[in-house]
Amino acid sequence: MSQLQKIDQPPRDLVVAVGAATDVGGRATNEDTIAAVELAESPPAPGGPPAPTYLLAVADGMGGHADGEVASRLAIDTLRAAVGNEPGADAGLLFKQAFRRANETIYAQGAATGGERPMGTTLVAALLRGQYATVANVGDSRAYLLRAKGLTQITRDHTFVADEVARGALTPEQARRSPQRNVLTQALGSGPKLDAKLPAIYELTLLPDDRLLLCSDGFVDVLENADLIAAMLGRDAPAAARLLVDLARERGAADNVSAVVAEAVPTRVSVVSAAAAAPPRGRLSTPVIVLIAAIVVIVLVAAVYLLSANFF
Ligand code: CA
Repeated sequence: MSQLQKIDQPPRDLVVAVGAATDVGGRATNEDTIAAVELAESPPAPGGPPAPTYLLAVADGMGGHADGEVASRLAIDTLRAAVGNEPGADAGLLFKQAFRRANETIYAQGAATGGERPMGTTLVAALLRGQYATVANVGDSRAYLLRAKGLTQITRDHTFVADEVARGALTPEQARRSPQRNVLTQALGSGPKLDAKLPAIYELTLLPDDRLLLCSDGFVDVLENADLIAAMLGRDAPAAARLLVDLARERGAADNVSAVVAEAVPTRVSVVSAAAAAPPRGRLSTPVIVLIAAIVVIVLVAAVYLLSANFF
């Protein structure tokens, strides 16, 4: 029987590791709120085997005084409560309900306190079950997928400039530099009802070594895509999240910066290599045999040299 067949559980292709970091950046207060929570295991498909489940989210609040902080906190708390510890099978439907509830809660709070500017927040969230990820967003906090050194923006921003790019009136680079780049067309809490098409929902399947990044827009002005890739490649999720935030701060980010990173860690490969690396009991592994052979050759060469030196 091979080593692999002795494993009780069928090996999973990957496990997910998560990391999160947030920083005030160049502002007086941090209006971003983040979440990276491990939930009870749940099946990715009805009737299927349960898989580790994570809820990840970034909310970037706005408003006068402390309203931005309040709005992003309300969004994350409402999302967390709506998802619960054992989310049902339909993550898309769950997010639609949670985002509606968050919108209503924040709008009601804004109306009650009556700040000089309307209270609102972005929200990007991901539910990960094994390798299956459901992403939802409203606003301009983003989800990116890093796969094989290529970075893809999963979510589309709900901004004036993103709409202009979509209709060909601006290039992505012009949008990035536009003075109107922060003008949102959609946010949670800015109206009594969320647009019926929202949140936008994206489904993806992670492959081993993929990284999923959720982040607030504070990175956009100071980090290029190449920086995001370099910060995540070859680093575990907590180190990648920390480095992204530190890098943005070093580059003088004017805004709050938040990053939540999920890393699809391959397990099947490590199971195979662990089995291959463990030599059967009582026998020598190949590297040890090579080492012994190398020592024998060196000793023989030295002996021949010494003998020949004595002769001549
Ligand atoms: Ca921001």
